[in-house]
Amino acid sequence: MKKMINEIVVQLQKEDNHIWLLHLWEHCVIRNFERKLLEQDLDDQGIIINGRTFLDATTIEIFYPEISLKSRILSIITQAMTDISSNLIENEIPIITDEISYIDIDDEEKTIYDGLRATENDNILNLYESIDFPVEKISDKFSELVNYVKVAEFSDDKLDLKERSSSVRTKRVEDDCAVSKNSNFLSLDIKLWIKDTREYLIGYFLAFMIGMTEDSIVQKRYLSPNNKYLGYTQYIMYNGNAHILLLIDVKNIDRISIMDILPNGIFSNMSPKNFRRQLNGFKTYIGLYLSKYDLCKDILKIDDIPNSFSIEHLLSDIDTITIDDIQEFYERVKFSDLKKV
Ligand SMILES: [Zn+2]
Repeated sequence: MKKMINEIVVQLQKEDNHIWLLHLWEHCVIRNFERKLLEQDLDDQGIIINGRTFLDATTIEIFYPEISLKSRILSIITQAMTDISSNLIENEIPIITDEISYIDIDDEEKTIYDGLRATENDNILNLYESIDFPVEKISDKFSELVNYVKVAEFSDDKLDLKERSSSVRTKRVEDDCAVSKNSNFLSLDIKLWIKDTREYLIGYFLAFMIGMTEDSIVQKRYLSPNNKYLGYTQYIMYNGNAHILLLIDVKNIDRISIMDILPNGIFSNMSPKNFRRQLNGFKTYIGLYLSKYDLCKDILKIDDIPNSFSIEHLLSDIDTITIDDIQEFYERVKFSDLKKV
């Protein structure tokens, strides 16, 4: 019988802190966790811990095969988050300094995240910036940060929230959009506040239709007519906001207008057959490329999610999406207020 992999997810959103601080926290928690596993003689149980810090948050994932280990792992990760020694902080600072001294993104990647400078007041290059904080201050900050951690447990297709962050936003965030252009690339960032998991899926489907396949809007309305190859969308969550990030190659293209690629009413004019084709294509795409683990990480960022739900059930919402849902969602984007970065 195939064994299920169980997971514990720990997520910390950046809020007003510099992302460097969260990155350092991620390193310290992981190091601490590994040491405690050894101390408790659990290091041979096939437990894997991974951390990833992006612009808005750090996420730590612990994968383990034996469900019976759950409560012990939960207690170890809680300890690992709460007692981070000054010594550990001192040891990790040069490591993270070394890590971020290599800027491992190219022009294309820099451009695709450019819109976030206008929509989230953030910059991808912040990930490569060091902050000079005394260890004591870092230690204080760390004990404060623990209060904002979200902990979820994922096993057997069910996600359970163990700990909710105490900083859940109550106010709706403004939708926004921004464009950035240089001689090689143009990027468009569409920011949409996400109310619940169904809206998360609608946003994803929109990103899919705009630029994730050979059958996409960008392919048909821009790449093919211009004999271009490079153009695609990415879908990311930044706090509770979805971002549809579009990047296209515009080298040697004299004139380009977003409205030509994405005119008003583009979705309401879709035939039911074409919509069905896109929706079924989206389901296949999600099945192929969106792991349940990655989905959990995104879902945790949504402001208002239930304490417990099944991933399968969540994904079945895809079948309830209509052309009207898409058009309504898309109309939230006000291209007339498009910001230029
Ligand atoms: Zn790192």
